[in-house]
Amino acid sequence: MKYISTRGGVEPQDFEDVVLTGLAPDGGLFVPQELPVFSQQEIASWAGLSYQALALKIISPFVDGAIPEDDLKQLIDKSYATFRHGGIAPLIQTGHNEWIMELFHGPTLAFKDFALQFLGHLLDYILAKRGQKVVIMGATSGDTGSAAIEGCRRCENIDIFILHPYNRVSDVQRRQMTTVLADNVHNIAMHGNFDDCQNMVKASFADQSFLPEGRQLAAVNSINWARIMAQIVYYFWASLSLGGPQRKVSFSVPTGNFGDIFAGYLAHKMGLPIEQLVIATNQNDILHRCISDNDHSTRPLEQSLAPSMDIMISSNFERLLFDLYDRDGAAIAELMKDAKAGHMNLSDAALKEARKLFSSYRCDDAGMVEIIRSVYQQSNYLMDPHTAIGLDAARHCRANLETPMVTLATAHPAKFPDAVKCAGYPNDPELPQHMADLFDKEERYTVLDNDQATVQSYIAQHIHA
Ligand SMILES: *Cc1c(COP(=O)(O)O)cnc(C)c1O
Repeated sequence: MKYISTRGGVEPQDFEDVVLTGLAPDGGLFVPQELPVFSQQEIASWAGLSYQALALKIISPFVDGAIPEDDLKQLIDKSYATFRHGGIAPLIQTGHNEWIMELFHGPTLAFKDFALQFLGHLLDYILAKRGQKVVIMGATSGDTGSAAIEGCRRCENIDIFILHPYNRVSDVQRRQMTTVLADNVHNIAMHGNFDDCQNMVKASFADQSFLPEGRQLAAVNSINWARIMAQIVYYFWASLSLGGPQRKVSFSVPTGNFGDIFAGYLAHKMGLPIEQLVIATNQNDILHRCISDNDHSTRPLEQSLAPSMDIMISSNFERLLFDLYDRDGAAIAELMKDAKAGHMNLSDAALKEARKLFSSYRCDDAGMVEIIRSVYQQSNYLMDPHTAIGLDAARHCRANLETPMVTLATAHPAKFPDAVKCAGYPNDPELPQHMADLFDKEERYTVLDNDQATVQSYIAQHIHA
C-alpha cells in the first residue's frame, strides 16, 4: 500500500517511510492511497477475537507486507500487554443503549496509549531493521508527553526528549513523565509556556545541525499516520461487542486534534456500519461552529478544565477535508492557507457530505461539571472531564434511540482531580493501584532556560541510544 499527501505534492510513499517521516514534505498529512474495505461477512467473522487478534486483522492491510505477519503480531501483542484490563477497551453501560468505552487502561491512563505503545515498538522495529537511530523531540502540555515516554522507554534505537513548561503541568502529569528513569528518556522543564516549548521543537526540526552526525529528529505527534491507524481498531471492537456489523452503532468522541474521531471515520469507510459520529468540543468550539454554521474562524484559545481539547486548529481535520473535496490536494492547500490566516469557508457540497455522518456539540466547563455530578449521583460512575463532554454531546446529538451510542472515555478521572472536585466529588479521585506509588517515586528532570543554544546543546550531549 502506498501513501499520498493531502496537499498532493509528494510522490506516493511506502508505509515505513511514512511512519518515520510524520509530516509530508509538502506540509500535508499522509493518507492511504486506497483504503482497505472489509465485507460484512468478514467483519462478522471477527466476533469473539481478542483485541490483539482483531488489531492484527485491521492493521495488516495498511502494512501490506512491509513487516512480516509474525513480527507484526508480536509488535501488537507487546503493545497491549501493558494494559491493566483484560478487555483492553471495556464497555460500560450508563443508560438505554448508552455506553462508555473505557480507553484509559493503558500505562498513562489516557487513550493516547493505544497509539503510542504501538508506535514506540513499531518505530524501534523499523529502525533496528535499517540500522538507524533517531532522536524524538516533542513538547507537551500534559497527556501526550507521558504516553510518548511510556511508548519509547524500552526502545533501543530511540532517545526521547520531552519539553514541558516548567511549573505549568499538573503534579500527576509531571510525575508520570519524570519518574520514568530509563537512560534514553530525557525530561526538560523549560521556562516559559507550552507555546514556547512547541516553538523550540519547531525551530529544532527546521535546523537539525545541532545533532551529531547521522542522527535526525522524529516526531510522534498526533499527525503520525501509525497513531491514527492503531485507533481504528477500537471502533470495530465496540461494534462487534454491541451486535455489529449486523447492527449500526454511533460514537461520540471528545475531540481536540481530530485524530481519534478521524479513525472512526476511516472505520466507517472500511465497511463498519456507523450511524453517527459526534464531534464533542469544549468552549474552544471551532469544529462545532464549522459543522453547524460553516464558521471555521479562529478565536483566542481559552483554558478549560478539559485541557487536552484546548486546541484551535485541529491538524487531522485536514485529512477529512481531503476526502470531502474529492482528494483535490491543490484545493486543500488553499483551504489550509485560509484556515491559518484565521478563516476557512467550506463548500456547500463538502459541508453536506460531512453532515451525513458527523454532528457536533459544544459543552463548556459548567455543563461538563454538571454531567460529571449527575452521572456520579445517579450511577456512582465517575468520569473525567473529557469523557463528560463526550457524553453530553452524545445525549444532545443522538438521532435514534434504538442505535447504541458509545462515548469514548479518553482519560481516567484521577488525571483531572480539579474538575472532578468541582463536580462535588469529595476527595482527590484515587489513582489505580499500579500507580498508587506515583508520589513516592524518584523524579528526574532538568530545568533549562528558553534559549535555543542551551536546549540544543543539552540534547546533543545527552543522547544515549
Ligand atoms: C488527546 C486527547 C483528546 C483529544 O483527542 P484528539 O485525537 O486530539 O482529537 C481528548 N481527550 C483526552 C483525555 C486526550 O488526551
